[in-house]
Amino acid sequence: MAKMYYEKDCNLDVLKGKTIAVVGYGSQGHAHALNLRDSGCDVIVGLRKGGKSWEVAEKDGFEVCTVADATKKADIVIMLINDEVQAAVYKNEIEPNLEPGNAIAFAHGFNIRYGQIVPPADVDVFMAAPKGPGHTVRSLYVAGKGVPCLVAVEQDASGKATDIALAYIAGIGGARAGILETTFREETETDLFGEQTVLCGGVVDLMQCGFEVLVEAGYDPLNAYFECIHELKLIIDLVNKAGMSGMNYSISDTAEYGEYVSGPRVFPHDQLKANMREVLSDIQDGTFAGKWIQENKNGRTFFNSKRKQLAEHQMEIVGKELRDGMLWKNDQDLDTASN
Ligand code: NAD
Ligand code: MG
Repeated sequence: MAKMYYEKDCNLDVLKGKTIAVVGYGSQGHAHALNLRDSGCDVIVGLRKGGKSWEVAEKDGFEVCTVADATKKADIVIMLINDEVQAAVYKNEIEPNLEPGNAIAFAHGFNIRYGQIVPPADVDVFMAAPKGPGHTVRSLYVAGKGVPCLVAVEQDASGKATDIALAYIAGIGGARAGILETTFREETETDLFGEQTVLCGGVVDLMQCGFEVLVEAGYDPLNAYFECIHELKLIIDLVNKAGMSGMNYSISDTAEYGEYVSGPRVFPHDQLKANMREVLSDIQDGTFAGKWIQENKNGRTFFNSKRKQLAEHQMEIVGKELRDGMLWKNDQDLDTASN
């Protein structure tokens, strides 16, 4: 089992006298910058001139400059812009301004793992990856808590990269919840696998198929939506709180019996796992990464057409109608805005 670190293992003093450039001020960027500043660190923000986030970061009281200038001024640069644009921004603005002894950090390993960014040998390269959305990284920090984080050191030029990484994560509040040691390879591959087979790919396709089978059999679309899509959150909340057995305790015995007899019929495990292994293998050998990099170079034609097709699916129209009728609609709007 991998090592866990907590506050007692982290020494924020390591960051004293160092300037941290937070590059990007979106979901993760704003949370890291604000939390680090509240933890007593010296933080500046690097952005595109004229971008939307520039004003927001300035309003929050930060010194904001171009990514190139921020890199020049900083000892530690953390990449919190979209993964797809990181390689170009790194090449043009960061690489020419990195100095020996600096550190470059990431919240996700994609660009290092697939060789899109290759930092010089004389800088530290580490990962500080919160296992949660940026807005939660901020709100839990303010509440005196924190989001658990992953730490990884890809390159230890200074001999102090692990201490710097742990101090950084303590600064964003992660040490309050726990820091799991990993590698860029493991983080990237498990993250891609999880989102493709279970969390996003798997679950979205499962809900869509359930909805379609009921509607095609003549059942009311509203009913199909409630059953196959809306209720999923309620079940997952139970799993999150009490595990599979705890969830089974809350549902009826009829539902639990149906789970045992029909689950493996819908998903014959041998076949399902064989399919998942194929996806994993495409992730491990770089096939998936290559396709995604190419898709971005080609103007995202496939991506955009799939996004449009999904937004026009009947389940989306029906879902909006139902959510609009719910009393706590405003809370739900807040939920999505903060994601
Ligand atoms: P985001 O889309 O919320 O924000 C991106 C920011 O980068 C914005 O401020 C945008 O203005 C800025 N930006 C975009 N292009 C730029 C450019 N060319 N030059 C300068 N600035 C530019 O991004 P995010 O979701 O916070 O993701 C940042 C990183 O954190 C990614 O590596 C992602 O994988 C990782 N991560 C995200 C989450 C999450 O919950 N969102 C969780 C864990 C890790
Ligand atoms: Mg993201």
